[in-house]
Amino acid sequence: MSESGMVYLVGAGPGEPKLSTLRAKELIENCDVLVYDNLANPELRKWASLNCVQIDVGKSPGRHTLEQRDIEKTLVEHAVKGKVVVRLKGGDPFVFGRCAEEMLALDEAGISYEVVPGVTAALACAGYAGLPLSHRECGSTISFLTGHEDLSKDSLRVDFSKFAKIGGTLCIYMGMSKLDEIVQKLLEGGISPEVPTAIVSNGTLPRQKKVVTTLNKVVKSACEAKLQAPAIVFVGNAIGRTGKKGNWFESRPLFGKRFALTRPTAQVSKLKKKLEDRGAEVLELPLIKILPSEDKKLIAEIFAGIATYEWAVFTSANGAREFMRLFFLAFGDIRSFGPMRIACVGEGTAEVFRNYSLEVEMIPEISTAENLAKDLVATNSLDSANVLIVTGNRNREILVQMLEDIGHAIVDTLPIYETDFTDIKDAPDYEKFLKFGADGIIFTSSSTALSYVEQEEDLVFEDGAIKPIHCSFGPETSKTLRENDLEVKLECINPSIKEMIFKVVEQFGG
Ligand code: SAH
Repeated sequence: MSESGMVYLVGAGPGEPKLSTLRAKELIENCDVLVYDNLANPELRKWASLNCVQIDVGKSPGRHTLEQRDIEKTLVEHAVKGKVVVRLKGGDPFVFGRCAEEMLALDEAGISYEVVPGVTAALACAGYAGLPLSHRECGSTISFLTGHEDLSKDSLRVDFSKFAKIGGTLCIYMGMSKLDEIVQKLLEGGISPEVPTAIVSNGTLPRQKKVVTTLNKVVKSACEAKLQAPAIVFVGNAIGRTGKKGNWFESRPLFGKRFALTRPTAQVSKLKKKLEDRGAEVLELPLIKILPSEDKKLIAEIFAGIATYEWAVFTSANGAREFMRLFFLAFGDIRSFGPMRIACVGEGTAEVFRNYSLEVEMIPEISTAENLAKDLVATNSLDSANVLIVTGNRNREILVQMLEDIGHAIVDTLPIYETDFTDIKDAPDYEKFLKFGADGIIFTSSSTALSYVEQEEDLVFEDGAIKPIHCSFGPETSKTLRENDLEVKLECINPSIKEMIFKVVEQFGG
């Protein structure tokens, strides 16, 4: 007999993935079956394991009464087979989430369940729009109301005229389709037409929009701002007590801007986080993948002679990282690094060594392999010196040539990783990129630019998509872009995430 399964009724939070709970994340990571609907951010589903079965039970307006029974059946069906099922619901499962019906169905089938609360939309929207829900002087109650529970029903379930008398703050879910009627009822109930009223749509998401006005003007304002569901309507004096910083979320410098990142997935996180922290939406569009070099014999030879090099020269952060990884595999102790001096093409590469407290003696002012070679030659330290150049497979011939021919160095080249183009159609945000476009696409290396050019046929934007401007991490990348007729509007002189963020904020920051 198989062990009976378990269902977790989990609140996904309001939209921003980081507003979901640690418990939600843990359960999603470990479940066998994930049953979700449209309000749960798709990002959360990326936490699920590869063998997790994901089932979309998204409700469409006017259809969901029928489907609710099917959802319950789905939960029961998988749980009786001994599966661990996560039922993911937007916001909090107990707030207008029909959770009671699902619990009843599970009880009837004798299946155990747990409930995991989530941040409900009203609280999240209020916080992210800077609208206080309570105030010592004018807001001592907070009510959660629903405009409609079923779009197929014509009338409002809640008698809003009664709520006009309660005062405090009203948080109205699902209110958009009957906004006019709700306002009328509140006015009939005797509420002041001047009472502060706000609507927040798509709260906590990069496309959050809001209007803050008074009750008598809210229908017109919502129409003008083209606000759409999902949205929460707030009515009450407390929300009018916002301080100057109330608009914190939407006034971040990159709010409303979208950027596509082209680096390999494993490396996007730092740049992604910095862009997101400034309010941008980030699309992942990896155009290259980095594979470790297969030439084990050469690697072993180079490491055996590591003490003989006077300079080690690094042309990319990828190369630097992979070199250090192999170094520690070979030696396990930083003291074996020896006395060789380190030269790096740019700040990002140098950072890898600084993390190990290794001093980087040379970084050219403008980050190109040619400048690096010129600066190295200018040290007059190369004559008959052993120099190690650590690169990818897309070699910097010029570097080797200049160090040998002009500097008279004895050069060993260690191609430590290989760069391959990815298939753009496999990128996590490929469809979104073509549908909506982006304000900028950030190329981190010449190879990302070449991959983009090569896959042009698969990069036809849909009508209405924003055509991104090309942002280049450094002069080499810009050169490749220009050689391929791609205009470069934003460029770092010395590739680093810090400089890129600075330039992006300078260009796009409102
Ligand atoms: N259980 C959910 C509510 C489900 S009802 C919760 O606790 O949040 C669906 C309604 O929630 C939508 O019609 C809208 O009124 C509100 N809602 C959900 N997500 C929202 C968001 N990101 N921004 C604004 N309103 C949202």
